Amino acid sequence: MSSYLQLSGINKTYGNFTALENVDLEVEKGEFVTFLGPSGSGKTTTLMLIAGFATPTRGTIDIEGASLAGLDPQDRNIGIVFQNYALFPHKTAAENVYFPLQMRDVKRLEGMRRADEMLDLVGLAGFSHRYPKELSGGQQQRVALARALVFEPDLLLLDEPLGALDKNLREQMQIEIKRIQKKLGVTTIFVTHDQTEAMSMSDRICVFSNGKIEQLGKPLDIYHRPKTKFVADFIGESNLIPARITDAANCKAQSNVLGDVTYGTQSGTELRDGQEVSLVIRPEHLKLSSKRLADRMSAGIEIETIVNYGDNALVIGTSESQQIRVRVPGADVVILNEGDKCFISWTQDDVFVVTD
Ligand code: ATP
Repeated sequence: MSSYLQLSGINKTYGNFTALENVDLEVEKGEFVTFLGPSGSGKTTTLMLIAGFATPTRGTIDIEGASLAGLDPQDRNIGIVFQNYALFPHKTAAENVYFPLQMRDVKRLEGMRRADEMLDLVGLAGFSHRYPKELSGGQQQRVALARALVFEPDLLLLDEPLGALDKNLREQMQIEIKRIQKKLGVTTIFVTHDQTEAMSMSDRICVFSNGKIEQLGKPLDIYHRPKTKFVADFIGESNLIPARITDAANCKAQSNVLGDVTYGTQSGTELRDGQEVSLVIRPEHLKLSSKRLADRMSAGIEIETIVNYGDNALVIGTSESQQIRVRVPGADVVILNEGDKCFISWTQDDVFVVTD
């Protein structure tokens, strides 16, 4: 059975420049999928192709098995929210939300009733008569969300909708958007370059890099089993340590910094003996100690910098000329000094292998 939304072999070129290359993606009905990646990686381009504001150079986009090719954006039954809310300034909140219904020939009385209901759902009961300039940024974004949802779209597309909000409001809106999306069960694609936002909101994350999907998976799978160096570095913090596979069958590798290691987690990519790879250890999985610990593998390190964050600290040191980062609980940092020589230690489960 095919998925609800299906992108197959999508390419998008602008002149000589390839913005998207061979993008395949399947999204299930009701799913919340986030496009995550650095600036220019192709997230918005993909969203615009789905919305119909641009046409793929090659490839197809289907919803429920029906091709979207040739359909204008207004005929796609897709709700969209952009970072800059794009509300009509001379219309009230309710009139803004009514607008897409008006375009669909819903009579004013019925349309305004549905607009009020939707404003209620997004937490703006009582704000129907306000004009956009009389609303805060967060409230305007709620109106934009209500407007994108009021006509019961097949798909909701959110392009960095929280980018203009301050941190607290942003976190509050993340929870709100998730609540509303779950309640309505609307299939949603959310674009962000903020990895914590992606981790906390998504059913699955689609990591973009250079116009390609680098990895697609559940947030924790992507975090614990990144396939490439890029993903390991982009999602969470990573120590990336050059190494060579010595015995792929038995998960063994060798590196200057860590010596001979057995890695616990594999990304799923095939590895061969002699292959140059990177070992990844998350800073929070390393332990610092003044002596070697009997039950853990360890290596010497000299502390260079300690950055305090209150509840935790980042300790940066070097081992065999490689910079190593360790996260330690805030309480532990009082006994550490820059220049100290000590040990980092880890267990097999903390080490995984990624390729380029
Ligand atoms: P951001 O987070 O900055 O929005 P993004 O991942 O959404 O980045 P896109 O907007 O999809 O990136 O852009 C992907 C690439 O395609 C970029 O290099 C961009 O410059 C290029 N691009 C996008 N639209 C056009 C266009 N109309 N003409 C030429 N190049 C374009």
